[in-house]
Amino acid sequence: MSASSLVAESLWKSIESTRSVSEDQLSTLYFLFGKNLEKATRIVDQRGVKTISGEPSSRFIFQVMGESRRKEEYYCFAEHYCACYSFFYDIVNKGEQLFCKHQLAARLAAALGACIEIKVSDEQLALLLAKL
Ligand SMILES: [Zn+2]
Repeated sequence: MSASSLVAESLWKSIESTRSVSEDQLSTLYFLFGKNLEKATRIVDQRGVKTISGEPSSRFIFQVMGESRRKEEYYCFAEHYCACYSFFYDIVNKGEQLFCKHQLAARLAAALGACIEIKVSDEQLALLLAKL
């Protein structure tokens, strides 16, 4: 894990423990993630992050709205995957960034407890994941 990932991890944890973001934490996050963080905070402010969780397993996936158009939504795992174009282009192909804005929005909303929770059956969740 890179130094910046470690810094980010400890930041997410402390945000999670207080359920709030201080100015200092926000500027460190901005330093690490730049413009994507700004876009992510906009998504979180609009309550654009949902978790779809399967019952009874409690396995879940994030569903994050696009920044510009509300009807766009992307399935994503905060640490490893997002269905958006930028994830494949900027992150997987070019390796320029660590996370796309949807992943950052998911991390931030989860740490703040700001996700909208949607419960489905495990079967429904499995069908949804099979379509990714
Ligand atoms: Zn994305």
